[in-house]
Amino acid sequence: MKFGGTSVGDAACMRRSATIVSNASREFSIVVVVSAMSGVTNRLIDAAHHAKRGDREAGKALANTLRKQHFEALAALVLDESARFSVQQRIEEILSEGARLYEGTALLRELTPRTLDAISSLGERLCAPVFSAALSQMGVAGLPIEALELIVTDSFHGGAEPQVEPTRQRAHSRIDPLLKAGHIPVITGFIGATADGILTTLGRGGSDYSATILGAALDADEIIIWTDVDGVLTADPRLVSEARTIAEISYREAAELAYFGARVLHPKTLRPVLPAGIPVWIRNSFAPEKLGTKITAQGHSIGGGVKALTAIRDVALISVGGPGIVGVPDVVGRTFSTTAQLRAEVLLISQSSSQNDICFIVAKAHSQVTIEALRHEFAQDLAHQVVDHITMDPNIAIVAVVGENMRGTPGVAGRTFHCLGQQGVNIIAIAQGSSETNISFVVSDDSVKAALLATHREFGLGRSNGS
Ligand code: ASP
Ligand code: MG
Repeated sequence: MKFGGTSVGDAACMRRSATIVSNASREFSIVVVVSAMSGVTNRLIDAAHHAKRGDREAGKALANTLRKQHFEALAALVLDESARFSVQQRIEEILSEGARLYEGTALLRELTPRTLDAISSLGERLCAPVFSAALSQMGVAGLPIEALELIVTDSFHGGAEPQVEPTRQRAHSRIDPLLKAGHIPVITGFIGATADGILTTLGRGGSDYSATILGAALDADEIIIWTDVDGVLTADPRLVSEARTIAEISYREAAELAYFGARVLHPKTLRPVLPAGIPVWIRNSFAPEKLGTKITAQGHSIGGGVKALTAIRDVALISVGGPGIVGVPDVVGRTFSTTAQLRAEVLLISQSSSQNDICFIVAKAHSQVTIEALRHEFAQDLAHQVVDHITMDPNIAIVAVVGENMRGTPGVAGRTFHCLGQQGVNIIAIAQGSSETNISFVVSDDSVKAALLATHREFGLGRSNGS
């Protein structure tokens, strides 16, 4: 069971989450993964950037706030004085480690990815002992464990990749005996360590990934990701009021949704569970009576094939083109080797058949550097009008219609674009991968809501569709 930041956001939330664990522990062996209390990671990273500019106070001020926040939660959850005292000591140790990291950063005015990882891991490391003590107070034997001991990764700081075999060995040898002895390990999400023991992080929002890495390594029967929404929804309920929770969805569909911006899951979350087909649940820790969404290998097929919609908004459309590029063979290659060098993730590509124009989408955060790099790459061609424009449109969004059973179902694209046309939504670009599990299209940002409403209605996603 993984509990996200809001599910451990304060004492009341932690109590609710710990109760879920303690109830389930009557029937099952449970391993817990926790995120940092909500907002903590952002604040740790902010203070790190202050320290980098030479500010020696930001880290100290934050340590005081974090001490207070964790002590308060602890005081509300743990009545036993000696138990509380030992957790307080642990908190102090972690905070003083943090103080040294901030001091070093301020002194050198340098923040390496490795130091930033060490700093941003503090939130999970502070949270686990508190959550674990809350469990023990309820009479189930919590035991905090830092994932450095368990998850072995490469050394790509800020987005490290787990190594499956060593992780599996360590996880089993450390966790199996604890479970046998009736303990409930409470493991820090988000972090791992290289084979030499240097702390790494799995990337922002990476605790979901920690949960599936560990679930797969330990051959779990199920993984439950407890969050603050009811599950995977048919669309963003802030934009589509008829949106509803999907009962069952396939790995592939969930991955498409995560990739296209539905914020329920870290995009890499499902990778570790694919080989063994372990079901992953998304459930609401604030409403544990609801079943949530079950993510499985097969999903659960439904008639029309469309399962859900999603939109990504902080993106920009870049286009490279002009009549001169017709037949110039390397424009596509040079365009995308430029984005690759920048590590700018390309979310959608569309090319007209005459090669008059190649357009693609990147995150807004990458758009400026991408366009500058392209202008540099194509400087000669621009000068000789082989390429006549490299332009960017930031006021756009991608909408994706997702469903595994769309594959081989004729008419989905027709219905999608017909209903958009009827609503007067103009389509700027279209892409459908040959996997046919999603059709994505680009619209102006101010027509996202209309596009979602129209397609949601067209495919009857608001009705209970038996999925
Ligand atoms: N605390 C980390 C973050 O905020 C990891 C997580 O919450 O999943 O990115
Ligand atoms: Mg989080």
